[in-house]
Amino acid sequence: MNTTLETPEVLDIAIIGAGPCALAVAARMRETTPSALFTDAEHQRYHWIKRHKNRVKLVPTKGRATKKILVEDKSEKPCGEICNPPKYLMAVYDSSGPDWMIKWTCLFNAYNIKTLRSPLFFHVDPRDRDGLKAYAYAKGREKEMVELKGVVGKEISKHLMKKKMKRRPSVNAHTGKSIDERDMQDYYTPSTSLFNDYCQDCIDRYSLNNLVTQTDVRSIEYDEQGTDERPDKCFTIKTSIGTQLARTVVLSIGPGMPAPPPFTSNEAEGACHTSQLLKQKCLVPHVKAKMDSKHTTNVIVIGGGLTSAQIVDLCIKKGVSKVWHIMRDDFKVKHFDLSLDWVAKYKNINQAAFWSADTDEERFEMILSARNGGSITPAYKAVLERHQTKGNVIRHTKTQIVGKSWDSTSRLWTIETEPPIPDLPPIDYIYYATGAKADINAMPLLQPLLQSHPIETVGGLPCLTYDMQWSKDVPLFVTGRLAGLQLGPGAANLEGARAGAERIAWRLQEILGDIDKYSDGNDPVDEMDELRDRAERSWTHLNMFDTLSVGRDVSIRDN
Ligand SMILES: Cc1cc2nc3c(=O)[nH]c(=O)nc-3n(C[C@H](O)[C@H](O)[C@H](O)COP(=O)(O)OP(=O)(O)OC[C@H]3O[C@@H](n4cnc5c(N)ncnc54)[C@H](O)[C@@H]3O)c2cc1C
Repeated sequence: MNTTLETPEVLDIAIIGAGPCALAVAARMRETTPSALFTDAEHQRYHWIKRHKNRVKLVPTKGRATKKILVEDKSEKPCGEICNPPKYLMAVYDSSGPDWMIKWTCLFNAYNIKTLRSPLFFHVDPRDRDGLKAYAYAKGREKEMVELKGVVGKEISKHLMKKKMKRRPSVNAHTGKSIDERDMQDYYTPSTSLFNDYCQDCIDRYSLNNLVTQTDVRSIEYDEQGTDERPDKCFTIKTSIGTQLARTVVLSIGPGMPAPPPFTSNEAEGACHTSQLLKQKCLVPHVKAKMDSKHTTNVIVIGGGLTSAQIVDLCIKKGVSKVWHIMRDDFKVKHFDLSLDWVAKYKNINQAAFWSADTDEERFEMILSARNGGSITPAYKAVLERHQTKGNVIRHTKTQIVGKSWDSTSRLWTIETEPPIPDLPPIDYIYYATGAKADINAMPLLQPLLQSHPIETVGGLPCLTYDMQWSKDVPLFVTGRLAGLQLGPGAANLEGARAGAERIAWRLQEILGDIDKYSDGNDPVDEMDELRDRAERSWTHLNMFDTLSVGRDVSIRDN
């Protein structure tokens, strides 16, 4: 945990933001065997060989796989590759706090979220797709994996599928069949504490503690030409507590800014955007005082996403008498914030269509249609229905506020809606659960870069390279929601975290490949070439054991 900029003169990597997507990149930069290249068994075996290569004598087989293995203790080296001193000088800057995922944990606390919305395999650990599930079992915390009821087993039978296809042959064969029983284990979501503990485990395993400094990054500049103070091809990062130079930057600032709230500073006493609950209590003093004196309190929550449902529930639990839940669209219920065919087994079909789209405009349209606005989960639908039955919550869909005035003496709003809500009383407080605006053109910290190295945008998202780089000459990488045009609709949630980290890491390692200040002499470029080469070979003619033999034709057996 840091509060001042005490890092070396020029960093190899500066990461801006310390949320889950940033953590995935940092962890991936310390992982030597990317899981994307290996099956779980191969991965496990590769790690075993890496870890024990100093203690075992590998005996060449000369083509046969039955030769003896001699195990002898050659060194006291206690652990494997990821515990070696880090190769890259890396620092992380976050405005929310001096540690990883402060904004994430504070929001989860503020909204009282007990369970994630996403499935178990959406996580940040580069080592193993099923790592979170394995962690839950290893720690005896299986009960903290919550089944998503009504997802698995809802697929259409083969017979019904054939009938449908006959009737409408143009329909994709997989339409309606999104989940397979074999994937059943995946359709559990982790409890918030299980997920957070697994992230902490990842932070510890990759020695990522003490990397984060709390500071607001205000501008990023990139200069090809050096000066006396700065080398060529270098970023200058200006923050609220100082200036830092870096060879590469990873921008991982989440969705960007909240949608501009439609109230003035004079009216701010009576309304907030839900992201402000990071810094303020759910109930503001005048509402709390009214409740304490046993007066009726009325609030409005605007929005149709999961956050709106969480705030409605929270208000009722805190003792608000009545909540009007207003949304401009229909009330939509979905397990995930993407439709199931973007999450489950056949998501590859959609991903392929996304990646083969001709233009970024087309991709942007696909993102919009996959997300299809805000939605809430079946579990929260049930919670809201309980409140509605008791008469504490009233929902109005396809409704918008068209007029409002705040009386600062009575501290009450007079609200006009379209269509009008009959008998709507004066309102004590309005919560805007209206999401965030992802538009790089409106972000002050990117203005210098946008001017010196302009980039095209679609719907506010930058048109990045495949490696999620600003341009091939500017080594600034973008991950999270802002990388949507490369990663697809999953960029805005945890699904994009590992996928983004994987792409960024390959390119970062290529750019920084000549830096190997602390290694034991293995050239990192050679190591990456070796991995790529091995991956290539594994896809062609060798079996996994050949593929994993460390640079020689050997057989090996675990003890
Ligand atoms: C309440 C809530 C619940 C969610 N639940 C889920 C879920 O269950 N599953 C799921 O997949 N997704 C969920 N999401 C979506 C979620 O936001 C993402 O999955 C995840 O947070 C994305 O991580 P990120 O690192 O891209 O962004 P963030 O988590 O938003 O992290 C960005 C970080 O950048 C920092 N930052 C921003 N600007 C600056 C700056 N100028 N200088 C320095 N630091 C800066 C912020 O302080 C923040 O810590 C949820 C979102 C919310 C709001």
